[in-house]
Amino acid sequence: MDKDCIFCQIARGQTDTEMLYQSDTLVVFKDINPHAPVHLLLVPKSHIRSINDLGDADREILAELTMVAKEMAREHGVARSGYKLLYNVEKGGGQLIFHLHMHLLGGWK
Ligand code: AMP
Ligand code: ZN
Repeated sequence: MDKDCIFCQIARGQTDTEMLYQSDTLVVFKDINPHAPVHLLLVPKSHIRSINDLGDADREILAELTMVAKEMAREHGVARSGYKLLYNVEKGGGQLIFHLHMHLLGGWK
């Protein structure tokens, strides 16, 4: 937990962000500035800075992120039409919030 990290605050229920899904490991909510008709963020509860900071012990988190993304895509009606799963990594990769998260983008016509 990083007290200045917005995604830690969201994951701990300290904001009014509407949760679409939550488990012991992660939370899912809508991106506040969507780049697609469906744009969700899947965020582990533990504060990991980026993909670069994953350790061997984090394998289960990564697996859960992907499995929950698949389920969220189905629930939000984009599984068949298709979607993107994306990690931005560090500044050069477009990462703005330095708490690991996966983007789920889809729903284009
Ligand atoms: P990234 O560039 O991968 O770090 O993406 C961060 C994403 O978080 C951006 O798409 C933002 O629109 C989104 N974002 C920032 N603050 C919030 C928030 N409070 N609630 C929901 N999404 C947010
Ligand atoms: Zn954090």
